[in-house]
Amino acid sequence: MSRSIALVALVVAVAAAAPAVAAGKLAVVTTTEDLAALTREVGGDRVGVEALARGYQDPHFVEPKPSFILKLNKADLLIAIGRDLEIGWLPPLITQSRNAKLQPGAAGYLDASLAATVLEVPTGQVTRAMGDVHPTGNPHYWLDPGNGRRVAQAIRAKLSELSPADAAYFAERFASFDRRLAEAEKRWDGLMAPLKGLKVVTYHRSWSYFAQRFGLDVVGYVEPRPGIPPSPGHTLELTQEMKRLGAKLVIVEPYFSLKTPTAIARDTGAQVVVLAPGVGAVKEAPDYFALFDYDDNLVATAAKAAATK
Ligand SMILES: [Zn+2]
Repeated sequence: MSRSIALVALVVAVAAAAPAVAAGKLAVVTTTEDLAALTREVGGDRVGVEALARGYQDPHFVEPKPSFILKLNKADLLIAIGRDLEIGWLPPLITQSRNAKLQPGAAGYLDASLAATVLEVPTGQVTRAMGDVHPTGNPHYWLDPGNGRRVAQAIRAKLSELSPADAAYFAERFASFDRRLAEAEKRWDGLMAPLKGLKVVTYHRSWSYFAQRFGLDVVGYVEPRPGIPPSPGHTLELTQEMKRLGAKLVIVEPYFSLKTPTAIARDTGAQVVVLAPGVGAVKEAPDYFALFDYDDNLVATAAKAAATK
């Protein structure tokens, strides 16, 4: 305990000695690289943006680092995914940042999920029973470009509130993003249209939004429940269900073991495809547009391979 207090004291002392951010530039910290990418689209050169989690990390389980506290201490704005995605690691960092601006409810805290359309919201009592990491709805909403647009709009509003002199600039940047996204969506829809109704299995429920947006039919999950590792009984049931339905694609996030997906694929004749669940998950997905280009192309290629098998 005393060690962590000493660490915080050191970090805050270093922060106080660090040079201030360039005058007039908002310092934004986001929890994920997806939010950083959207903030860059809207904020351009009027904001400095840093993400805490890397895109290749499971965003539910990020190891907090002292450098995160330092970044939060210096920030004007913190943007989080919300819906409990970061509940395992972000709240203590916000407290330890000693930055009043970023506390939940303050002007410098933006919960992006409030702008998104959220799926799989449980009805009835909210519970984290059995370790379910999606107790308040599915937090992977950035994998629908429609939500990317809604979140970018919320970021535009928040940046304009914190830096009113740049409001016109942010509005122009958002309009440009909106136009380019609409163009890209035509491209992605064209690529995915032939796959409408394709039955797939996914490791974690990261792909609910992606599947809904592009017409894939998710018929099962390698995890028995979100955040719970595969079990032999569940894997057997899933394999039988895949054979019954003719599901030929297993979508996996890069931070999960391929052991169970590979075994399932061997038993069912399915293809395993490792997609990028977010910006920065692979080097080919450095921004929000490249993310969907990468994933849509991989799914289309894997579906073709599965069909000819
Ligand atoms: Zn999740």
